[in-house]
Amino acid sequence: MVVDEKRGVIRRSLPAAAVFALVLGALAFFYPDIRDALGTAPGSPRSGAATHALYSTPPVPSRCELPDDRDEDIRRTLNALARCLDRMWTASLRTAGYHYEPPSEVNLVETPGDASCGQGDEGWAGIYCPESRSVNVLLDASWAFSDMFTLAHEYAHHVQEISGIADQRGSEIFDEAWSRRLELQADCMAAAAMRDVDPEALAMVRAAAGSAGAEDEEWAAHRKTHGSAKNSAAWIGRGERLGTIGACNTWAAPEDQVS
Ligand SMILES: [Zn+2]
Repeated sequence: MVVDEKRGVIRRSLPAAAVFALVLGALAFFYPDIRDALGTAPGSPRSGAATHALYSTPPVPSRCELPDDRDEDIRRTLNALARCLDRMWTASLRTAGYHYEPPSEVNLVETPGDASCGQGDEGWAGIYCPESRSVNVLLDASWAFSDMFTLAHEYAHHVQEISGIADQRGSEIFDEAWSRRLELQADCMAAAAMRDVDPEALAMVRAAAGSAGAEDEEWAAHRKTHGSAKNSAAWIGRGERLGTIGACNTWAAPEDQVS
């Protein structure tokens, strides 16, 4: 009978459907491309982090009055820049209806031990502590602008944190690939903020980012979590040229742009 045949089909196909779902689940776990297709991974335009309201805001107002000789007193320069960054991000977030709160503190430290987190870690130039929402920059007296860019990068992490742009609602996977999208976005947003503060110095930072590449172990580990030198330079270039948060949407970028 027809009805029985249908039941038979349904019974036989149910286990098959379950197996398919399991395979798809496993593939989705192991193959990012399939996660992309399902719309739940970073890189998918439908993932939460890729469709944030901040992506349609106008260019970040990149303006700052700084001491004439920025290298003379780097602390003074960085404190002035911090106030500018607060103003820039206040204005930028306001256009999307977000209220900006400055970081709880901006620590300009001589050694990692004086930072409010990451004291045990070596080799960082700046660090953002999401728990205390504090920005930390390790002072390097050689060239003020490099510390300025680091400050802008850590501020970008703060904006990612308070706006929810980094909470990665589209994916529950927090791995190295996730870290690269977060870090490259911070590079791009830092460049957007700094693009009119000193375009020449910013171009030098971009060139330095693109040529960095000593293939030692520490650098290899850094690239895994922060992206390749080529991609870092490319995202800095996007922020530099376009100046918008939307130009910095690493969460919707294909894998090869965030490797
Ligand atoms: Zn970072």
